[in-house]
Formats: sequence, structure tokens, C-alpha cells
Amino acid sequence: MRKLFFALAVSVFVIGNTAKAEVVQSASDSGKIRVIMIGAHPDDCDQDGGGTAILFAKMGYAVKFVSVTNGDAGHQTEHGDALAKRRFAEAQEAGKRFGVTYDVLDNHDGQLLPTLEVRLQIIKKIREWNADIVIAPRPNDYHPDHRYTGVLVQDAAYMVAVPDVAPEMPALKKNPVFLYYQDFFQRPNPFSPDVAIDITDVYAQKVHAMDAHESQMYEWLPWIGHYLNEIPSGKEDRIKWLTKHETESITPEMRASLEKWYGKDKAAQVQQAEAFEITEYGAQPTDDDIKKLFPMLGK
Ligand SMILES: [Zn+2]
Repeated sequence: MRKLFFALAVSVFVIGNTAKAEVVQSASDSGKIRVIMIGAHPDDCDQDGGGTAILFAKMGYAVKFVSVTNGDAGHQTEHGDALAKRRFAEAQEAGKRFGVTYDVLDNHDGQLLPTLEVRLQIIKKIREWNADIVIAPRPNDYHPDHRYTGVLVQDAAYMVAVPDVAPEMPALKKNPVFLYYQDFFQRPNPFSPDVAIDITDVYAQKVHAMDAHESQMYEWLPWIGHYLNEIPSGKEDRIKWLTKHETESITPEMRASLEKWYGKDKAAQVQQAEAFEITEYGAQPTDDDIKKLFPMLGK
């Protein structure tokens, strides 16, 4: 097992290095940087990377959200196909509000496993989008679907560039930069906010887009979290409630990262932020590469 890991690590290193010089190449080729955010359920990308997605979309980047499951287990009274259809419609509306396209893969919610079949689905999504940036959960999340989405994207991170894997779709010529969404799990190691994005100015838009997931924000999550009695009935009151509910405090580590990228004065004013960790898979960006891929930094 160790040997196999070493061989894989060497190949990843080689392809990572080969890709290094080309990290931001495709942007100049097409004039548009392409971002794919991957989550387990049709509201995960929204929550973890939605503010950053809005900023990317406003700069003219091509942004896609992918949900690896169809969300058909995420409700207390609705089930199966009917629920999957409702959540698909909510995801499409959210996508419009974020300014991104939203794909939902037809895998069952709550039953995701890191199989070869799903790995190939993800490889094809990343290739099809010709992604420069791929963002996914870390593989140590509490929810098995989140955890295995993390594993599946890690498993795809090298294979997207291997022509003989899923040969029906051309392999990427360069490996994208892979990042993780922020989480608060401490084991085996805490999340490292390598890149922190100021989303204060677009936070209201993020909440408005998340409000499209009615079945989740106002029904399922409050039911499973035992706060259903807090949910107001009117539309405006719900948005107000959601704004407050989704507000997260900025950790000292995130604040330090904001200072690195925006300078001390600007960082002190940031009220809402999203952070990402650079993975050891795929292309390994320098700070300059990160500034090119995330031009909102420092502004
Ligand atoms: Zn989820």
C-alpha cells in the first residue's frame, strides 16, 4: 500500500510540476477563467463558496456548481423522485441568482460511495468544463456524502489529465488548481485558510440565492436541527432570518489570511468572508498565480 501511495505521489508531483508553468495559461488562451465548485447536495456549493462564485461571475468567469447527489433524502415529509425534482428546480433558481450554471448528478442522497462509476462522472464534469479551478469538500467531513465527494474529487485530480481514463472525452492538457472549502473539523488536521475572500459586498446576494432552496433553508435543515419553530412565514422575514442565521464569525486564522491578501486596513473591515485551502493535488499555484486566478484579492 505504501509503495503504491509513493508511486502515485510521484506521478502527482510530476504532473503538478508540469502544470505549474501553465496554471494561468488557459485564462489567456480563452480570455475566461473557468471554475467548477463541487458539492454533495444541491445547496452545498452555495453555502461554502456562493459569495466567491458571485464575485467570479461578476468578473466574467465561467462558473459551474455540481451537486454529486440529487438530494432525494433531504426532507422530513417529501421523498424520492418528487423531492429530487423539487430540489433540481430550486438549484436552477439558485444558479440564476448566483450567476452560475448548476448541474445535479442523479446519484441517491445519503448513499454516495467513492466508486469508479461516480469518479468517472466527476472526471467528465471537470473535463467538460475545462476547469482552471476546482473546489470541493475536505474528505474528513461529518456527512458521508460530503466526505466521499471529497475523496471522489481527490481521486479525479490526477485522472482528469490521463487520456486513457474515460477516453471518450479528451483529457485536460493542464491539471487545474484544486482547493477545499472551509470547514471546522480538527482531525486529522484543521482546515488551513490559504485563500480568504472578502464577500461582504455580495453577502446579501448570496443569502438571496440561498433562499431559493426553500425545502432546505426553511424546512429540512430547521427540522433536523430542531429549530423549525424559529422560521417566520413571510418572504421578507425569512430573508432577514436567513441573513442572520448564515452569518459566520471570522476566525483569527481567516483574519490573518485576509491581512495577507488585502492588507491590514482593508482586512479589518471585512465582515463576511469565505476561505479555501490549496490541496496538494493538481497544479501547485504560487501566490502570483493565486492573485491571477482570484483577482478580487487586494481589491
Ligand atoms: Zn450537504
